[in-house]
This record gives sequence, C-alpha cells and structure tokens, in this order.
Amino acid sequence: MWLFAVDHFIPRKYAPELEEDYANLVYSCYECNRKKASKWPSKDKNRQFLDGIGFVDPVSEEYDVHMERDPQGNIIGKTVAGRYMVQVGFEFDKRPMREIYKAMQLIDKKQQLRKKCKMCQLMNCMNT
Ligand SMILES: [Zn+2]
Repeated sequence: MWLFAVDHFIPRKYAPELEEDYANLVYSCYECNRKKASKWPSKDKNRQFLDGIGFVDPVSEEYDVHMERDPQGNIIGKTVAGRYMVQVGFEFDKRPMREIYKAMQLIDKKQQLRKKCKMCQLMNCMNT
C-alpha cells in the first residue's frame, strides 16, 4: 500500500502564512514528505535556492533537468539542485529506490500480461 501526503513546498517554518495556500501544496509520497520535512537551504521563503542548492518546484519546472533515473533504477542528480535533492533533500541515495522502481516495473508488466492473456481474463489467474 502506498501512503501519500501533502507537502508544503516552502515549509511552514519559513512561511506559516502559506500553510493553506494551494499554490504552496504539493502532492507527495509519505516518505519524501517526511525526508523533506522543514528543509529549506536558504532559510528565506523568498529564495528558492542558495548557491544552487534547494528544492525544485515540481509544478513549475521539469524534474528531468535536475534528476534522472539510471539504467539500474537509481535516481541521479544532474545539477547542484538535483544532487542536493538526491543526497540531502529526499535522501534517494539512501533509500531502496532501485528496488522500488524494479517492483513497479514488475507490477506494470503483470498488468500488461493480464490485458494480453485471454485465459487470464477468463480464469482470473493473475489476481494473486
Ligand atoms: Zn516519494
């Protein structure tokens, strides 16, 4: 089961007035939200980055510019901000991101197989 949360992009610690501001709310998985917590390198709500270090707003910018997935499934930082998010912000390099990615690929393949296999549709054989 996946748990989701609502992240305050600019943490409440630095912008309490934005606590209920829709533009500051980001849909997040529970673990990313927990890892990010109140991290905000500039400690200034008006500065998203401090010497390039900070969080990229997932709504306003493409994550692909800052991070990518390598062929093994690891998440790699491509910029200063990307490396910060991978190593400090979300700690992707300390979490089983490769294993989660491979598990998600298996689930996706199972669903594709189920769609293709008429026997499975008849017998419901891939529901376990
Ligand atoms: Zn996450």
